[in-house]
Amino acid sequence: MHCEKCGVEIEDGSTTCSKCGAEVSATDVKAANAENPVGGGV
Ligand SMILES: [Zn+2]
Repeated sequence: MHCEKCGVEIEDGSTTCSKCGAEVSATDVKAANAENPVGGGV
């Protein structure tokens, strides 16, 4: 993937750009889970 800030190529799995240090969203899995919270008992 690439950094959205500087455009440098980022290693898959990294969460931050090694060049500019910006945070990068590796996957949208978290967002998907957020929309479907698990364990919402009671
Ligand atoms: Zn960057």
